Amino acid sequence: MKRVVYNFSPGPAALSKEVIQQAADEMTDWRGSGLSVMEMSHRGKEFTEILANAKNDLRALMSVPDNYKILFMQGGAIAENAIIPMNLVGRKPQQPATIDFINTGHWSVQTIEEAHKYAKVNIAASSEDRGFTYVPARDTWKLTPDAAYVHICTNETIGGVEFDYTPDVGDVPLVADMSSNILSREIDVSKHAVIYAGAQKNIGPSGVTIVIVREDMLGHALPSCPSAFDWKLVADHDSMYNTPPTYPIYIAGLTFQWLRRQGGVAAMEKINIQKAALVYDYLDSTDFYSNPVPAANRSRMNVPFRLRDESLNATFLAEAEKNDLVQLKGHSSVGGMRASIYNAMPIEGVQKLVAFMKDFEKRYG
Ligand code: PMP
Repeated sequence: MKRVVYNFSPGPAALSKEVIQQAADEMTDWRGSGLSVMEMSHRGKEFTEILANAKNDLRALMSVPDNYKILFMQGGAIAENAIIPMNLVGRKPQQPATIDFINTGHWSVQTIEEAHKYAKVNIAASSEDRGFTYVPARDTWKLTPDAAYVHICTNETIGGVEFDYTPDVGDVPLVADMSSNILSREIDVSKHAVIYAGAQKNIGPSGVTIVIVREDMLGHALPSCPSAFDWKLVADHDSMYNTPPTYPIYIAGLTFQWLRRQGGVAAMEKINIQKAALVYDYLDSTDFYSNPVPAANRSRMNVPFRLRDESLNATFLAEAEKNDLVQLKGHSSVGGMRASIYNAMPIEGVQKLVAFMKDFEKRYG
């Protein structure tokens, strides 16, 4: 018998069981081609179709306007931390240009560190004063009028802090790291110049990075930018300038189709609100567990929480594992627990987690 668990991993994370089953069914013979997707030429008609469908389905799911390109790249969000400034600071006549950052936690910090190599960095707002537990209010931001761009991380995967709105930054391009909440809530793509996300949370396996970029952001790469990372070259070659990560793109495409069958992003958002409320409502009803983030900024995707008595951590994790609730350990930099409840986590998994947490409290509280 195969083991069935609820996987709360922050990423690589749970994928839809339907998607994994479909991939398994098609593994050795993709739709009568006699080929596994892994064995196909990326330029052949089969993979060309897979790529085009993935792109069209993502465009439909996010209502991506026509003046935006969808790129499938490699290197993950961390590579984009360098790729973005290499593509955007050149739009400014004066070098070094300034990049504005909103610093909301671990992943913002990492993005900022990389940016120092390419530009002047301005921390326009930061929530470090309260341990990165909130999103600084828009009216406190000290933006640079002629910045190359403003960078935000819309969901801090470790801190469990999420933007509940898209900030208006005027004419300065808004760049958003959506690695851990892309496709989980409706957003207006047209308010952004660039949206990027590693795939391994809400989309598919690691290895493909989604970049959604407005056309006027193309064609400004620094001469030192590697060709494979020049968005214009990648766009002109329809993500085939180099060999793209074909299998991750295929799985991403299956996820996009699955999302469309679920009713799209609006339908997912409704369920995600319910799932998150189940956990946070319970956390708020007890002092056996705690979460430090104010309600408006709580992540719907990643719920970090602590036990009042941290000496019970190992017991909690071991018992959760016995109950088929796996990968609940918090990030090493913050400790405690974290339940990542991306699109592919069914509400039943969250119900089972909350029931287990209640029972654990009864027995140890
Ligand atoms: N940004 C965010 C918000 C993330 O959650 C992660 C990965 N956990 C990264 C960036 C880094 O992604 P990668 O390791 O795929 O480069």
